[in-house]
Amino acid sequence: MKFNLEEFKVQGIKFNYYFVCRRKLWLFNRGITMENNSERVMQGKTVHEDSYARLKTREVLIDDILRLDIMDKDFIREIKITSRMRDVDRMQLLYYLYYLKKLGIQKKGVLNYVKERKNETVELDKESELKIESTLIDINKLLSQENPPKIIKYPYCKKCAYYQFCFIQEVE
Ligand code: SF4
Repeated sequence: MKFNLEEFKVQGIKFNYYFVCRRKLWLFNRGITMENNSERVMQGKTVHEDSYARLKTREVLIDDILRLDIMDKDFIREIKITSRMRDVDRMQLLYYLYYLKKLGIQKKGVLNYVKERKNETVELDKESELKIESTLIDINKLLSQENPPKIIKYPYCKKCAYYQFCFIQEVE
């Protein structure tokens, strides 16, 4: 059966959260937003602003769904602080490439890790397209659940904006 992106598409940030923590995605989707208080996010914004100033570019918003850091002739470029969440970064960028492809725009991706001063190229292939489609189907199922997924302790929970929410209100 042909996959219908219109039915399953989500914002880039939700696609990202799916790989960071499914509970975080569920909470965010219910409008429980605490990210503005997160120092890490603030730091991220500063890095972005500095990087933009250097690269003389700005965000591109696609369909109110994807917020691309930079789009030029051949590439979309995502600016990250470090490569600690490399696999998540890669999946998010692949989703962007997939979404653009469906709009008839063919690009390659580059992850730009500012602190480490390194770039990584990301290209969409058939396997990653199928992975994105199955992920979108799974996200759809997850978001329709009545209750949030159970807490899983990740090494980065303490840096998550929902830390207090998870570990103070719902310690088992
Ligand atoms: S604190 Fe941990 S379990 Fe809770 S939403 Fe954040 S990453 Fe997920």
